[in-house]
Amino acid sequence: MDFKDNTEEAAFRTEVRDFINNELRKEVPEGGAEDLERGMYRGAFERLKGVRQKLAGRGWIAPAWPKEYGGAGLSVKQQFIMNEEFAENRVPPVGGMGVSMIGPTLIVHGNEAQKQEHLGRILSGEVQWCQGFSEPGSGSDLASLQTRAVRDGDDFVINGQKIWTSGAQYAHWMFMMARTDPDAPKHKGISYFMLDMKSPGVTVRPLTNLANQNMFNEVFFEDVRVPAKNLVGELNRGWYIGTTTLDFERSSIGSAVGIRLQLDGLVKYAKEHEGDGTSRTGQLESLKGELVDRYIEANVARLMSYRVVTMQAAGMIPNHEASMTKLFASELNQRIARTGVRVLGLYGQLYGDDAPMKGRYESSYMTSLASTIAGGTSEIQRNIIATRGLGLPRD
Ligand SMILES: Cc1cc2nc3c(=O)[nH]c(=O)nc-3n(C[C@H](O)[C@H](O)[C@H](O)COP(=O)(O)OP(=O)(O)OC[C@H]3O[C@@H](n4cnc5c(N)ncnc54)[C@H](O)[C@@H]3O)c2cc1C
Repeated sequence: MDFKDNTEEAAFRTEVRDFINNELRKEVPEGGAEDLERGMYRGAFERLKGVRQKLAGRGWIAPAWPKEYGGAGLSVKQQFIMNEEFAENRVPPVGGMGVSMIGPTLIVHGNEAQKQEHLGRILSGEVQWCQGFSEPGSGSDLASLQTRAVRDGDDFVINGQKIWTSGAQYAHWMFMMARTDPDAPKHKGISYFMLDMKSPGVTVRPLTNLANQNMFNEVFFEDVRVPAKNLVGELNRGWYIGTTTLDFERSSIGSAVGIRLQLDGLVKYAKEHEGDGTSRTGQLESLKGELVDRYIEANVARLMSYRVVTMQAAGMIPNHEASMTKLFASELNQRIARTGVRVLGLYGQLYGDDAPMKGRYESSYMTSLASTIAGGTSEIQRNIIATRGLGLPRD
């Protein structure tokens, strides 16, 4: 591939940069993306209001959506340039799962009434969504899910439980899958619904992760009535709609830039503090080699994500290539967190604004553990690479 922008792409990059400098920079909270986790949680949601308004004003809240639905209709390469520039300038993502997952799914599979009801509210940022797919017994093998939906008059009645539901405590709506035909083969008895989180019978119970954060939840459904108009697509064909949503989840680009910036921050810190005891690079020569390894790996991650983008731009659907990128980037995330803690030594255990590097590595050491589980575990990615990439037999 050609790594340089062509004339049109260079002009678009300049347009994005100018917009960031002139309009967006003053709206980005101090600390930017790294300190805000992801833009879908309440604290972040409020703090990012200014960024959302500016982006909405420019028509850039949903860069990938077609223009007729209020998106920016950008090409894959333009989206990549935008993500790259936003990441370089630490502008956090603001659209959440509404923009990245359910919106695009409704554009493909929703009926006119559903698009009318939901797309505008997603674009204006009024409504936050969560994803109700995983259950206690169904994660990697998602098609085995057991939450039931039974038709009763104009409604479906839902009973069961979801787990690991990120942001459910703040979400207004959930997109979810439930079993509507228990006698059909497992992939063929599932339907896809949109559920108002205020419906009677919905209970959200936050789960605390290793880093003492409440980012995900258990969600229980007890005789929850969902109007039949909230069924997306055909009854019992929900699995195929769910896989569309997952394709949108996995096609996110731009994390490679975030990885490199994080590393740049660590190298800068290590250089500036070498003599003062809060960086062990002065005492442990091997750490410098470790930082160089991470730097090379971060560049490999960037090239891998370029490969995925190039394929998408050529109209191809990356499959094992996307799995390779996800696997490598998520494991690299963990290695960088480990290196960060090693550079800081005992200070690496401290958390909070007064800690060296604001305790970022204490936090990422623990939260990065989840990166090889969320969005498909490393073992599942390796299975995909082995079977679809290398053509190895399944058993
Ligand atoms: C931070 C975070 C946020 C999440 N947010 C959401 C969300 O918002 N909504 C949502 O629906 N879900 C969410 N999830 C759930 C996530 O999708 C699942 O955790 C993931 O798909 C793995 O499923 P599981 O936890 O049931 O593990 P399992 O599928 O039970 O896996 C357990 C272990 O067995 C291995 N394994 C399983 N099958 C195979 C196989 N065939 N071959 C080899 N090894 C295998 C796995 O790799 C893993 O090591 C989130 C998870 C995390 C960590």
